Amino acid sequence: MAEKKTVKVITVNVDLCHGCRACEAACSAFHADPKYGIVNPARSRIKVHWDPLRNLFFPVYAGPYTNAECMGREKYIIDEKEYDECMFCRATACPSRDLFKEPDSKLPLKCDMCEEREPDEDPLCVQVCPIDALVFEEREEEMEEEPKVDELETSLDYLANKFGWEKILETAYKLSEARKEEAV
Ligand code: SF4
Ligand code: SF4
Ligand code: SF4
Repeated sequence: MAEKKTVKVITVNVDLCHGCRACEAACSAFHADPKYGIVNPARSRIKVHWDPLRNLFFPVYAGPYTNAECMGREKYIIDEKEYDECMFCRATACPSRDLFKEPDSKLPLKCDMCEEREPDEDPLCVQVCPIDALVFEEREEEMEEEPKVDELETSLDYLANKFGWEKILETAYKLSEARKEEAV
């Protein structure tokens, strides 16, 4: 049977967000040292963008690390207004912007879903949002199954009987060299 992994997601309802920034304050306080010792939204792992033309607020929480700018940027058109391709990106530490960098050290700030919270509690930003614009969901998803060692051995034995070990090793070597060249 396929193994399962736990996936944690925060769904953001932009239609509800009214830009109070309580989520930013709570996130920064929860991750302060000592915990709750200081409120500094510059250290928050969730940032609320504001579109002044339409008075819309877009909370974005910090996603995966990236050391380089991405190749294929996206543009968003919402109600005929074009948004900057980086605005909704959750990448942390991308050289193109300072959004999710710790202001003093410049180290990336990544959302950890408040991993130190009590197991039955929602993440802090979700708890403090007064109108449920942020909703936390934890669900089980099936992982792609890794081949077991004995299954691999059986498969290799089969191939060895059919083609001989020399051919298999030669092919594995060629494939490995080709992968290395692709990676350069
Ligand atoms: S911040 Fe901008 S350049 Fe960097 S990964 Fe995101 S979209 Fe690409
Ligand atoms: S889940 Fe926790 S770490 Fe992530 S943005 Fe919300 S408060 Fe910050
Ligand atoms: S706490 Fe809720 S309503 Fe306030 S800015 Fe954050 S997401 Fe928006």
